[in-house]
Amino acid sequence: MHTAFISHPDCLLHECGPYHPERPARLPAIEDELVACGLMPKLERHVAPLATHEQLLRVHAADYIEMLEAASLRAASSGAAYLDPDTAMNRHSMNAALRAAGAAVLATDLVIEKKADNAFCNIRPPGHHAGRGRAMGFCFINNVAVGAAHALEAHGLERVAVVDFDVHHGNGTEDIFRDDERVMMVSIFQHPFYPFSGAEGRSERMVNIPLPAGAGGKLFRAAVHEFWLPALDRFQPEMLFVSAGFDAHRDDDLSSLNLVEDDYAWVTETICAAGRRFAGNRIVSVLEGGYDLKALGRSVAAHVQALNTS
Ligand SMILES: [Zn+2]
Repeated sequence: MHTAFISHPDCLLHECGPYHPERPARLPAIEDELVACGLMPKLERHVAPLATHEQLLRVHAADYIEMLEAASLRAASSGAAYLDPDTAMNRHSMNAALRAAGAAVLATDLVIEKKADNAFCNIRPPGHHAGRGRAMGFCFINNVAVGAAHALEAHGLERVAVVDFDVHHGNGTEDIFRDDERVMMVSIFQHPFYPFSGAEGRSERMVNIPLPAGAGGKLFRAAVHEFWLPALDRFQPEMLFVSAGFDAHRDDDLSSLNLVEDDYAWVTETICAAGRRFAGNRIVSVLEGGYDLKALGRSVAAHVQALNTS
């Protein structure tokens, strides 16, 4: 068995505009590092399918998907369609977003059908800020939510958890699953910080842990022990989905939680250990943020190495 690595060339064609941090070069930076550190031959590559309408409609409103399709047509004729000041589509964006969500669906199928031990989706655009009816924060379709809903609806799982260590609060994922008793979300994010949500309204299933700027790995790990693990142990999810953002890295200009590669290896090993305890070792990880290319490559390598050996 092995870790599946799922991507698609269409994910390189989407651009939000010149000088945008969420840029195509992020994906090859990750692949190059996985090759350089000798990990790539140990992974099984898969090509992401397009997510279907039915899969999207489990987590997004029908009129929202229609709005995205209309914006995509506008972008095809005018070059760009802005959905918020830093979230724009070009003519390839809809396809890239459908591949990104399709990667999460394929990853879910592979892991549940035991065709892979676990899976990492090297995809963009990211997804965790996309709500049921809203694009924002570089996100259009909530990839990890599409995967989690697929596990529930197509495979009949009864409880799943989303683990989000991106430096930003996954407000879209929370919007989608807040009232869904089958889903727990545990997250750690910098606060106060974009999107300025998540610090209030913690519940038994929405375990949001805000950390102050400059927190560092020690506080991050303490929060995982104190809040995430007891919540997950209580909920006993049958599968874990990871919103794997690496923008909390010390070298990432966007933020200041000051994590390093070792923290990403540690949190991944900890998630894998939790997965072994109660989730049948079923783990699907989906790329979210991470904007310093070197730090992103090294951090994903640490994450995938831990997935592949845990
Ligand atoms: Zn982020």
